[in-house]
Amino acid sequence: MDTTLLLAHVDADGSLPRAALEALSAAKALGTPVTAALFGPSVAQAAAALAGTGIQKVLAVEDPALAEARYATDAAAAAALAKASGATVVVAPATSRLARVMAGVASRLGGRIDTHVTGLADEGGATVTRWYYRQRIEAKLRRKERPWVLLVDPGAMPAATAEGGPAPAVEKVAASLPAPRTKVSGLRAPSSGEQTIRPDAKVLLVAGAGWTKKQPDGAPHPDKAEALILSFLRASGASLGSSKSLVDQAGEGQKVFEFMTHLNQVGQTGSTPRHPKGLATCCHGEEPHVVGWRFIRERRAVNLDASCGWARGKADVLYVADAFAVMEKVNALLAAKK
Ligand SMILES: Cc1cc2nc3c(=O)[nH]c(=O)nc-3n(C[C@H](O)[C@H](O)[C@H](O)COP(=O)(O)OP(=O)(O)OC[C@H]3O[C@@H](n4cnc5c(N)ncnc54)[C@H](O)[C@@H]3O)c2cc1C
Repeated sequence: MDTTLLLAHVDADGSLPRAALEALSAAKALGTPVTAALFGPSVAQAAAALAGTGIQKVLAVEDPALAEARYATDAAAAAALAKASGATVVVAPATSRLARVMAGVASRLGGRIDTHVTGLADEGGATVTRWYYRQRIEAKLRRKERPWVLLVDPGAMPAATAEGGPAPAVEKVAASLPAPRTKVSGLRAPSSGEQTIRPDAKVLLVAGAGWTKKQPDGAPHPDKAEALILSFLRASGASLGSSKSLVDQAGEGQKVFEFMTHLNQVGQTGSTPRHPKGLATCCHGEEPHVVGWRFIRERRAVNLDASCGWARGKADVLYVADAFAVMEKVNALLAAKK
């Protein structure tokens, strides 16, 4: 029978990443007791966050060098924890920090890795669910090789509920971390303006190329569009997605919003975010774009065109309206609520 380990790092403020509690839900679905393993400069706060989740024991590697994400030290800590646990299945959240190191960790353990896991089950053995071909085909996988490292996509599972109570016992594990050769001197965000990609946001606002096109008065109003989009993002905490056409305009020398890059692009050649709700504005709703909405549970769109793609079964609600007017009103309502 498999033995299961939940492996995670602690966040910069010492807390447990939410994605770790989601990965724990996935791990528990295997039906065997789960041990946790954490690494960071100090794991006490994160271990306490596991109280009442069914986790009895937390293996820990604590070292000041683990305050910063660094391949050499993270991989050494994760491999030491997985080895000390003896687990045959190692479940980890696909945070950017762990996504970077876990393939190397699986290799150090002599095991295998599968990524983009969206579910686990015991179906006569550990069985993994994941999607292929830009989220069009869902498959179930099993492997004979062990240890089997599984990176669970954030947003795919509900977070395990921590009912509180005494914190699980923490058992220190010795890891020989290589002396760091790199030092983090600061952080630089990919977009020149503000950070607009917020994976944990409840709402995704998608901006399409229509925002920069000629409007009914015969002129484009990109500055007004920029102000409306930014006000909405600031007031609502929503994440910003884009159609390909809008972000591609930068390459053609046309006006494109300063705060937007190709990282915002949603769709077949972009990302597949997992927000509970999505609102598309000035976006036509073509299939290569909407395929990126696979996991958005409630979809709404604002478009002047009553025959746009969203009207053809792709949105739950389509408002046939001018997005400039709609977002102005929405922003006024949000401002009045504050
Ligand atoms: C191989 C391939 C891969 C692709 N991958 C992707 C991908 O990953 N992501 C992606 O997004 N696209 C992708 N595309 C492109 C995709 O097919 C569409 O061309 C693109 O999504 C269109 O972007 P859009 O809807 O913003 O622009 P447009 O098609 O120009 O639509 C603009 C919309 O804005 C509306 N509009 C204008 N003004 C207003 C207003 N004031 N109020 C309300 N509505 C208004 C118009 O009615 C129109 O429907 C791909 C295409 C191919 C061939």
